Amino acid sequence: MEIGSLLYALIPSWTSVSIYMIYLAYVAIASFILPAKVVPGRTLQDGTRLHYRCNGLLTLVSLIGLLGIASNMNLISLTLISNRGLEMLSTSFIFSSVVASALYIAGCNSRSQSTSLKPQFTGNFIIDWYMGVQLNPHFLGINLKFFFLRAGMMGWILINLSNLAKSVEIGSLTLSMILYQLFCLLHVVDFLYHEEKLTFYWDIIAERLGFMLIGGYLVWAAFITTIQGWWLLSNKVELSIPAAIAICTIYLIGAIGYRGANDQKHQFKMNPKEPIWGKPPKVIGGKLLASGYWGLARHYNYLADYLLSLSFSLVCGFSSPIPYIYPVFLIVFFVSRERRDEARCAEKYKEIWGEYCKVVPWRIVPYLY
Ligand code: NDP
Repeated sequence: MEIGSLLYALIPSWTSVSIYMIYLAYVAIASFILPAKVVPGRTLQDGTRLHYRCNGLLTLVSLIGLLGIASNMNLISLTLISNRGLEMLSTSFIFSSVVASALYIAGCNSRSQSTSLKPQFTGNFIIDWYMGVQLNPHFLGINLKFFFLRAGMMGWILINLSNLAKSVEIGSLTLSMILYQLFCLLHVVDFLYHEEKLTFYWDIIAERLGFMLIGGYLVWAAFITTIQGWWLLSNKVELSIPAAIAICTIYLIGAIGYRGANDQKHQFKMNPKEPIWGKPPKVIGGKLLASGYWGLARHYNYLADYLLSLSFSLVCGFSSPIPYIYPVFLIVFFVSRERRDEARCAEKYKEIWGEYCKVVPWRIVPYLY
């Protein structure tokens, strides 16, 4: 695609803006009206606790059901998103930038509030806009951080399903596309099924909401993670059965480790005495888990997530680096994220953290890093 036509394709049309806004409105309204399990979040610095309505999976399933009905009645085309990928991407980017700016302004206006959770500023506008100034901003009663996170994960599946419909329409459906779709769908369903455990994720407990997270959810999680699906639309890959089995094995190791590590930490936080892998947990200083996956490396969950991302890309073969943009980025992302989390934990847990690092010396990859 020439640079001129690429730039032209990036200009959002009213249709893409409308699709985007209707989608976000649906996610917001459904999260209020559909039945939900209400879970308390972590206790915040000022002693308060937020409550989260967890019904992400039901929201996604109902949305897919509604889209199926609308498509059967010829009200919409399932390839709508696939046909407008670039402008949907730029719409998402512009929307994330606008929201980050609005949150920065709202933070400035509430600078004087008295709780210990008042907005934090570094004084550098770019950093504050990018990293955010408020921990848990709300709008019309919606917890924005939680909302954008689930909107991004659901968006990932909607884009993929639209690309699947497109590949059927143009006759390019392959084993690679089927495996890629299946892997992502299982990952997102697993994520939303365990949504209540998000309340222990670092994003939720510690990160302020700025462009980094909003763009991370709405642009990165929804669009960049779908890059393999977009690529497979115009590139045919002949995947042999042994190669497919090997990639499925990598996916399974990643999926089991991802769920296992995140569940073990959640279980430990809820009930520190519950056995891990059939044995009483090894606990450092009464606060840090050092058994199970958390005894293999201090962030085995990142390694497992990385294996998932690798399996998404491997189905595309090795003829192009484009499908590997996601796993390559994740290396940089996880290494820096682990360093920042490490600094936070060292400050929070003091000498206990040092002791944990001695017992579990590996950061992400056991015996390697
Ligand atoms: P973690 O779930 O690893 O959470 C880190 C926090 O857990 C720490 O700040 C600390 O918080 C607590 N903790 C750390 N070690 C221990 C321990 N040994 N025992 C008890 N508590 C401990 O990190 P993330 O929130 O970054 O990641 C969650 C998941 O989300 C991961 O699986 C990750 O792969 C995934 N993810 C994926 C992304 C992607 O783009 N693919 C992006 C970001 C995350 P506390 O104060 O509670 O003790």
